[in-house]
Amino acid sequence: MILSGKELSASMKAAMREQVADFPSRYGRVPHLVVILVGDDPASCSYVRGKAKASEEVGIKNTTITLESTTSQEKLLEIISGLNADDEVDGILVQLPLPGHIDESRIIEAIDHSKDVDGFHPLNVAALWNKQPCTVACTPLGIIRMLDAAGVEIAGKRAVVIGRSQIVGLPAAKLLLDRNATVTICHSRTKNLAEITRQAEILVVAIGRPRFVTADMVSPGAVVIDVGVNRDPETGKLCGDVDFAAIEPKASVITPVPGGVGPMTITCLLENTISCFLSKHKAL
Ligand code: NAP
Repeated sequence: MILSGKELSASMKAAMREQVADFPSRYGRVPHLVVILVGDDPASCSYVRGKAKASEEVGIKNTTITLESTTSQEKLLEIISGLNADDEVDGILVQLPLPGHIDESRIIEAIDHSKDVDGFHPLNVAALWNKQPCTVACTPLGIIRMLDAAGVEIAGKRAVVIGRSQIVGLPAAKLLLDRNATVTICHSRTKNLAEITRQAEILVVAIGRPRFVTADMVSPGAVVIDVGVNRDPETGKLCGDVDFAAIEPKASVITPVPGGVGPMTITCLLENTISCFLSKHKAL
């Protein structure tokens, strides 16, 4: 089964569109997401455009603030502070990576954690690890939504996550653990990686290396979630961390690249924006 994030996103967005349509009469306005882009990195520009388009599709108000790559850290902090204080802003996202002269941690920490739709703020990260209500990072949340949509039973399964980044690998492992999977986290220093991945009933791959995971590393019937977004060095086309063509016949469920985890990341950003909006209105 090829698990299409594109299709699941479309149905989730249709449900969100209906939900948001009800908000003006119920709460007086729609959720408002502000995305800040510093510089003109082509990949970042394309991600920011994707976020604006998806917001529009579900009726979320989107403001994109575009700043010169030379913008100072102080100026960016000042803008964030203004957005934190603005009651009509529900979500703030600073597109990463930032130019080298800006301290990313400092910027993430400056965002009001109740508006941190990326789920990167230390308070949200701490809450995730403390099993408290929080905003969960969009990509790992998207992975769980995909597994649920495919009817994959997570509890009791052996899950292997390759990658231990703060934004994908670690939170994905934690979410799987919270759903009672038995989780192993692998990374660049892991020895005998293939031996470990062959034990996986659920394999999540977030490395950033084109087609790194080969068919011999996957056991028959495994569920394979490919987070990687890479350029194929030969064709220049987008490809994942998994050798899709070789593994698809072997896996019970597999996500494609493109059209897999990527669209779900954006859709979960919308989900997080709506949650931040609703938390605020329920708290009033
Ligand atoms: P990252 O911060 O660079 O982390 C990569 C992880 O892979 C690290 O933990 C690293 O181990 C591990 N790794 C590297 N080489 C390895 C090897 N040979 N064997 C085993 N582990 C290895 O990357 P990331 O931000 O997590 O992103 C990973 C991939 O997902 C990238 O392709 C990125 O573009 C993609 N991504 C996609 C989405 C989406 O929405 N689809 C969202 C975010 C990221 P160490 O910790 O030991 O260095």
